[in-house]
Amino acid sequence: MGGVNAAARLSGISKSFGAFKANEEVSVTIERGSIHALVGENGAGKSTLSNILYGLLRPDSGSIEVDGRRVSFASPRQAIEAGIGMVHQHFMLIPTLTVAENIVLGSEQGGLFRPLPMRRIEKEIVELSRRHGMEVDPRAPLSTLSVGGQQRVEIIKLLYRKARILILDEPTAVLSPPETERLFETLRSLVAEGRSVLLITHKLDEVLAVSDTVSVMKRGRLAGTMPVASATKEKLAQMMVGRDVLLRTENPPQQPGREVLSIDRLDYVMPGGRRKLQGIGLTVRAGEVYGVAGVEGNGQTELLSLLWGTWDRRGNATGSIRLEGRELLGLHPAGIAALGVSMIPEDRLRSAVIPEFSIGENLLFGRHEEKAFHRGFGFDRERLTRETARLESEYDIRHGGAANQPLSSLSGGNQQKLVFAREMERPGLRLLVLAQPTRGVDIGAIEQIHRRIIEARRNGAAVLLISSQLEELIALATRIGCLFEGAIRHEFGEEEVRAGRIGGSGFEQEIGLHIT
Ligand code: ADP
Ligand code: MG
Repeated sequence: MGGVNAAARLSGISKSFGAFKANEEVSVTIERGSIHALVGENGAGKSTLSNILYGLLRPDSGSIEVDGRRVSFASPRQAIEAGIGMVHQHFMLIPTLTVAENIVLGSEQGGLFRPLPMRRIEKEIVELSRRHGMEVDPRAPLSTLSVGGQQRVEIIKLLYRKARILILDEPTAVLSPPETERLFETLRSLVAEGRSVLLITHKLDEVLAVSDTVSVMKRGRLAGTMPVASATKEKLAQMMVGRDVLLRTENPPQQPGREVLSIDRLDYVMPGGRRKLQGIGLTVRAGEVYGVAGVEGNGQTELLSLLWGTWDRRGNATGSIRLEGRELLGLHPAGIAALGVSMIPEDRLRSAVIPEFSIGENLLFGRHEEKAFHRGFGFDRERLTRETARLESEYDIRHGGAANQPLSSLSGGNQQKLVFAREMERPGLRLLVLAQPTRGVDIGAIEQIHRRIIEARRNGAAVLLISSQLEELIALATRIGCLFEGAIRHEFGEEEVRAGRIGGSGFEQEIGLHIT
């Protein structure tokens, strides 16, 4: 290995949390002037490894070299001094300060008698941002920036501190496709000047599009490193998951059954008077997946809240939502769930789990009244434990300890799997409503979720699938309706969906859809 070109070299890094090995003997070399992608499923140990390089965590064993010199960071401050910078999954910016103030925060000493030379600083920020295609107004309050804009501030902050090795942890998770393009151009321009980037992502298309080298992590270990030129999506997916991954899910046709969900002339006006849904009508039969396509903000949130019973009662909802003839509009969430309706909301982690409750409690939440779990006057603990273990293994929910630890100890991806397990296993499932079910989920889990959706349909459930990804809808839906400004504008029938005759008509531009 050519030592001179290594910007950073991690050798034999191990790190455990309790008995759980988050990193085991991981060795990765980041070459100078290159983008090194680090991929792996949720919980594979990517953030742990990058936090070690950034000095946030101390490794249990192993060594780190930066620019050929052995280092041992006791804190991020020391890593920053060595030229390392990190943009975290959650930004660390202060909304009430300006862009420039956020950028200098912590990197310069002002003080009562020595105010910061803000004019000079602003000029420097503008120069840095222009050079790398990251337009920002240094005087704008941070709170006025889009998420993409805030991310640019984080990156400029690192450059301002003279970082030569930039770590970005899942930077594209929060970006739209055009913003992602822009970020990648910036990254290419940074490495062209001799900096190095460690790019953590689980989106394989991105790895192939932008990086030079890719390392794959699997369950805390390094599964391999290779030049991107010799990598394929299938190969990376196989290394991440440890088996062949079907990038397209089998979805055999099936004769739909009775009408399960029937929405008729559904209108919703928000408390302030804004009309969010106008005259929605659609039906979903047993064994059918009805896809709702469209750009977010066209009524998806409101439609879901009406279906789920969580809508703001100060607003006005009219029309009807019937489940096998029974009116749901006006019922509360528990009443709707009791009729065999399962919901997987987009914001699963905020609205579908209780972080302080244990993994087991979250898994069986809402099922405590089932006879099977009772014995005498109490719960059948053994039965509960067995059911929890079954769901954990069937849905591949991974955690370091026992099911009685708090849910918050699970990684985000595993929390999502838990919500899926609970909702898909609801006894008497008749209608499954899913919103953006694979957003932020890694590739092995996407395959699993898609298989589960098809399985639910095959078992006779009706499925309403809301997704902004046309590709996902085409893979799973029987019919697709396009939601635009609160109404279903076009409906594509089964033949058109199967033949993929949806894109290319100019129609998707009209409603702002893009195929990813
Ligand atoms: P990734 O970034 O690849 O999704 P992480 O490095 O965040 O994975 O986590 C790897 C594993 O280590 C996860 O299973 C997570 O639950 C566990 N883990 C991470 N940080 C801690 C911690 N501070 N305490 C206990 N377990 C942790
Ligand atoms: Mg992570």
